[in-house]
Amino acid sequence: MPGEDAESALGAGQRDQALGISSLYTRLGENLTRIEEADEVAEHYLGVIDAIHARRIEGEVSVKLTQLGFDLDVERTYAHVERLCERAAEAGQTLWIDMESSAYVDRTIDFYERLLRAHSNSGLCLQSYLHRTPADLQRLLPLEPSIRLVKGAYAESKSIAFQDRHDVDTAYAALAVTLLDALKAAKHVRIGLGTHDLRLIEQAAAQAEAAGLGRASFEVQMLYGIRTSEQVRLAREGYKVRQLIAYGEAWYPWYLRRLAERPANVLFVLRQLVPW
Ligand SMILES: Cc1cc2nc3c(=O)[nH]c(=O)nc-3n(C[C@H](O)[C@H](O)[C@H](O)COP(=O)(O)OP(=O)(O)OC[C@H]3O[C@@H](n4cnc5c(N)ncnc54)[C@H](O)[C@@H]3O)c2cc1C
Repeated sequence: MPGEDAESALGAGQRDQALGISSLYTRLGENLTRIEEADEVAEHYLGVIDAIHARRIEGEVSVKLTQLGFDLDVERTYAHVERLCERAAEAGQTLWIDMESSAYVDRTIDFYERLLRAHSNSGLCLQSYLHRTPADLQRLLPLEPSIRLVKGAYAESKSIAFQDRHDVDTAYAALAVTLLDALKAAKHVRIGLGTHDLRLIEQAAAQAEAAGLGRASFEVQMLYGIRTSEQVRLAREGYKVRQLIAYGEAWYPWYLRRLAERPANVLFVLRQLVPW
């Protein structure tokens, strides 16, 4: 994280734009206890969309539905997200929705389907570790969605999610092919490959080239500060690269998830604290 406030995040995004890397902003924070808190989150994101536009940043916003009151009042969440989509459309941006743990997936897909019918500038994250994702993608493709494909960040049971890294990667590659095939069939589908896995990115690029689509037919989306030199290299080689810049005070649960998926991050953080 470049800092806890939106200003630090926007500043970092603006700087890295000079390297050919665009940005995606998200404020950390999850489930709410009072619905009024969602109103504040929505106002905050409206301000960020405006700031991105005013500062001519190649940026977009990604939100968590739970942060906008999904557990408490779905209709109020929908109204917030609609407002954000409308503001994003005025600014020429897509409004992205994160995918949270499996308990939310059904509801999130329903929510996005409804939203997409009314707002074509909306996008959704799908997770390759879930067995259900190929069916969810088939359901959404006729609506010409924007999809950010990730492996998945939550601890899920083996009855619903692949546990083995190889299986998650194989599923990811197959879903990327499905997305590229849809694009080739002249569907308006926007593809974001949200991964640091260079093997999967190169595989997708080879498939895109073979299909005559070119490597700029999809966007590579990575986290701010992770594999930065590779992000710069990919941008130089003609890939579209976007970095997700997280900010906010609620960084602790988010950090714990990153830690659970990659214990080596403990060392990474310690190295920032200890000057050697
Ligand atoms: C833009 C973006 C948006 C995301 N949105 C969501 C979402 O909405 N819902 C969701 O469930 N998940 C989301 N994720 C997280 C995702 O599901 C994975 O948990 C995460 O990206 C790690 O998987 P990977 O694809 O990079 O592959 P991995 O196989 O985990 O990693 C590939 C290689 O990248 C490097 N690497 C990966 N992560 C790190 C790290 N944290 N620190 C250092 N090196 C690392 C390592 O060298 C590793 O070998 C998002 C990820 C990105 C990049």
